[in-house]
Amino acid sequence: MEIYGNKEAVNRLSEYRANERMPHSLLFFGDPGTGKRTLAFYTVMLYLCEKGGNTPCMKCHNCERTEKRIHPDVIYVDGEKTSVAQLREILKDSHGASVEGGIRVYILSEFQVLNRECQNALLTHLEEPSDNVRFILTASNKNGILPTILSRTALIRTSPLSAEECETALTKEGITDGEAEKLAHTYKGNLGLALKALENKNTDLYFASVRAYAEAVLKGDEYAALYVSAKLPQPKEDKREPIRILITETAKLFHDALIAAEGGKASCGCDSGLSERLAKKYPLTVLNGLCELTQRFSYIASKVYFNTKSASDAFTAGIFEKVKG
Ligand SMILES: [Zn+2]
Repeated sequence: MEIYGNKEAVNRLSEYRANERMPHSLLFFGDPGTGKRTLAFYTVMLYLCEKGGNTPCMKCHNCERTEKRIHPDVIYVDGEKTSVAQLREILKDSHGASVEGGIRVYILSEFQVLNRECQNALLTHLEEPSDNVRFILTASNKNGILPTILSRTALIRTSPLSAEECETALTKEGITDGEAEKLAHTYKGNLGLALKALENKNTDLYFASVRAYAEAVLKGDEYAALYVSAKLPQPKEDKREPIRILITETAKLFHDALIAAEGGKASCGCDSGLSERLAKKYPLTVLNGLCELTQRFSYIASKVYFNTKSASDAFTAGIFEKVKG
């Protein structure tokens, strides 16, 4: 895990650690995209790191599991999706022993959106803190939080990076120089928003590819289909993602086409119009074959390891074999 910027926040956390005064509850507040969640998990590492330094080692079993978000004693609660009943249920466990016998950490994100009842549910836990429980709250605005909670919590503000820092961070994340510079300036150094915009842009691109691929199948143009799959981007963080989306979304289009051919209403694919055209173009037997084939490939694509080039070539070859009958 890399922390970009937010030096003041990181220094304060290190100071707490050095003075053995890590607070039992903390609130990170700042605009969306300024690193609150990242800092929350960084703080979890400070609580749990087996090396116990003033900065987490990021290598020990606890740090690793925290980074992968699979530590059994780290509970993440999304404030935007949690009711008071759910929150009470979650917090009820905080009095019991942790899974591994050490500290249990609750991260409550977007805390300001939780209503008064929810906040009061937490307050009782903050008033009588249990020795082995820590609470980390994040909020894009602390105005929505009860003063009684704020007074029992260490408050740490998060800030966007400078445009230059943001550009460097994006480059480190594998974004090319030109694009990194453009994004850093467009989002005024807000790394989170820049990364989100990039993700959305890629998603749009993948779905456009799925449509282009289905159009090629409609035309019976195998070369065009191969061209679409060969031109998919290969993002550094997950090279398999684009082909995985192509395979699973194409499978949904064929599934919808089969339903449409049988007089039903297409529902799960990204373009019902395309599915209806596929249904008109190909007979039921072909659609059935395409469905079977693409679902088999969807299963393969759901695995972590597969060879993108051979999977996508075999996928296209299989589809056109069925189409040509
Ligand atoms: Zn560690």
